[in-house]
Amino acid sequence: MKKKVNCSVERCMKFCIAFVVFLGLFGIAKISKADSEVFRLYKPSSGEHLYTKNVSEANSLQNSGWNYEGVGWVAPDSGTQVFRLYNPNSSLHHYTSDTNERDSLIKAGWKYEQVAFHSGGNLPVYRAYNPNSGLHNFTSALGEQNSLVSVGWKNEGTAFYCKATAPNGTVNAANYILPWNLVKSGKSIINATNSKYSSLVQNAIPKWNALRSGTLVYSSTATSANVVCYDANEVNTALAVTGTDGKIIFYVKTMDAYSANVRTQTAIHELGHVLGIAHLPVYDDLMYDIASGKTTLSTQNATQFTAAAKKY
Ligand SMILES: [Zn+2]
Repeated sequence: MKKKVNCSVERCMKFCIAFVVFLGLFGIAKISKADSEVFRLYKPSSGEHLYTKNVSEANSLQNSGWNYEGVGWVAPDSGTQVFRLYNPNSSLHHYTSDTNERDSLIKAGWKYEQVAFHSGGNLPVYRAYNPNSGLHNFTSALGEQNSLVSVGWKNEGTAFYCKATAPNGTVNAANYILPWNLVKSGKSIINATNSKYSSLVQNAIPKWNALRSGTLVYSSTATSANVVCYDANEVNTALAVTGTDGKIIFYVKTMDAYSANVRTQTAIHELGHVLGIAHLPVYDDLMYDIASGKTTLSTQNATQFTAAAKKY
């Protein structure tokens, strides 16, 4: 089962606090918050991709010839409705937020099924059309869109918008920095002697210092540090928070409920906030606000660091 938990909400930034419900089937977990994962499935016999935010449907389709491909993007739970239609002749589905397109497809014999998900946010989901097969493809990953176009698909532009891209999506990472950081005179001195996760914090430091040596420095005394880590026993849906006051608080009950990889990720993620790096709307990224257990920096995290470090 793939674990997804909410992570590390900056107190002063009011990032969404996610609450997680685990579903044990096929490794799909649903986030219960104001956003929904749109799951992507593929049917090899027809070449069709299907997009649904319905976990039960995503799971049951896997028993009838569809392969689960992961999260296509994260959609808001309100906003512009995206309609799903079904063509009984070709057995293909189509998705549109355009009521005129919906109505003309219905006139042409398509069946209206449901509101599939919503469109909203500022990240595009691209639409491509294959004139040979009649298939449409929807992707939040510009690289995928471009590669389809390079092999003959027609670029139909932005179909709708999403809150976070697929893991292989790219965003303008330099824009995702905080209005503050905890770096003073080019470095940040970290102390974690009050935390049971001290070794995780110390091991997280070289991950970021690989981008610029000496930016994070560990100190075994709290008085000489400008960032001090603490543990809290209260129940919290977050794993940890980093505040502008220079405190990182780890929520022990949440931390210890998850895997070693999630705990490791949390330490690295919070130090990212220390460096002025904001949440990145790329699903499963180290700096995404839902933890995946990813413990390696992405190239987009490096871009974020470079942008944030211009301030210090
Ligand atoms: Zn965070």
